[in-house]
Amino acid sequence: MRQVIICILCLTFICGCSNKKNDIKPDIHTIIKEEENYIVGINYPTIGYSKFDRKAENYVNEVYQDFIKEYSQQHSKEGKGELNIDYKYNLVNKRYVNVIFTVFINSPYLAHPITSIKTMVFDTKKQKNLSFGDIISADTLEKLVPTMQTLFISEYKDCIFMDKVLSTVTKNFNNYQLFTFTDKELIIYFNPYQVSAGYCNVVRIKLPLKEVSLKIPIEKEIVNREVLSFLPKSRVIDPTKKVIALTFDDGPSRYTKDILNILELNKAVGTFFVLGNKVEIYQDVLKKSLLNGNELGNHTYNHKDMNRLSIREIKRQVFETQKIINETTGYIPTCFRPTYGNMTKAIRKSVDLKIILWNLDTRDWAGGSPKKIANRVLMSVRDGSVILMHDTYLRTKEAVGIIVPELKKEGYQFVTIRELEEVKRIRENSYNY
Ligand code: ZN
Repeated sequence: MRQVIICILCLTFICGCSNKKNDIKPDIHTIIKEEENYIVGINYPTIGYSKFDRKAENYVNEVYQDFIKEYSQQHSKEGKGELNIDYKYNLVNKRYVNVIFTVFINSPYLAHPITSIKTMVFDTKKQKNLSFGDIISADTLEKLVPTMQTLFISEYKDCIFMDKVLSTVTKNFNNYQLFTFTDKELIIYFNPYQVSAGYCNVVRIKLPLKEVSLKIPIEKEIVNREVLSFLPKSRVIDPTKKVIALTFDDGPSRYTKDILNILELNKAVGTFFVLGNKVEIYQDVLKKSLLNGNELGNHTYNHKDMNRLSIREIKRQVFETQKIINETTGYIPTCFRPTYGNMTKAIRKSVDLKIILWNLDTRDWAGGSPKKIANRVLMSVRDGSVILMHDTYLRTKEAVGIIVPELKKEGYQFVTIRELEEVKRIRENSYNY
């Protein structure tokens, strides 16, 4: 009898665990650093499954360490080396996680920036990283070879190496290290120089799943996005009393939700300058933030150093971020904060949004205890301060817990950037009369 009870308990335990395990919990990790001779902007996902997470973390760490090894010794008057790691996350049929990491390296020593990718496909049900052989049979691959060769040659005729296509796009599974799929197509990639010239960057072809039968069954999905149908009414602010704008860059992250709770508890608000590549994963947090009266601002799509971007690329970074925020939340930001606080003529010329910097840096990015970060604010805050913080650090979340109640006690009204601008306008007008 005792044994039976133990077995039942075990079963309940196992079921409970596996149910919980089916929850995919994507979280985006951010490393933003500006050192004397290099700049690093990294964003990458983990999903709560150790086999995937370890692989992703190891990969990012390897690229990061290699970059530091190479660039920390180099000094250049012409500029800093830059590493940017961006990602695209796609969950197919609530089961298959598809991630593409894009590694971008730029430096005054290079004739052109280098872009390369890495893909990871993970089956959350089997808890397994999938290889090309896991999703496609030898027969199917053999039949696909001529189609794939033709597609690469016709789509990249200006930069493709014919001989490399013929020797790489073959029935050898090992040649297909880079692939992802959606509910509609299988996508195969090659990094620069694998089958094409470097100036072509990464090359890829798309094969409709209608024409390719995968070993794993994929069903078509209906995407159902719910945007906010209303925004909260504007709040009452007394322009004759002290105001302060808290601003948070580089998020959202796992800490943003807690920061929102602290703000809500104190009837305070802030402005979140978000990265476009994180918006989709944290869309619920962003919707809550808007409903609580906070403001969202644009902080580019993937945190590249804007000093080196062309006007076209700056515009694309801003546009893609506006687009994803609007598509997922219904909101359209009106303010923009450039990465690394870099303000250039090209940015002024190409960004239509109001460009917002800050006048009080908490230096939360440099480390230090929450108390130290909070003290830096409490010592130098004044009416109209725009405070720079980052909702990507635990210490910042804890500092917010000290700063907000304290400044509330001192009679400060917390306002968004938009509200701060309005207060300034009212004050200027009343002064003129
Ligand atoms: Zn930033």
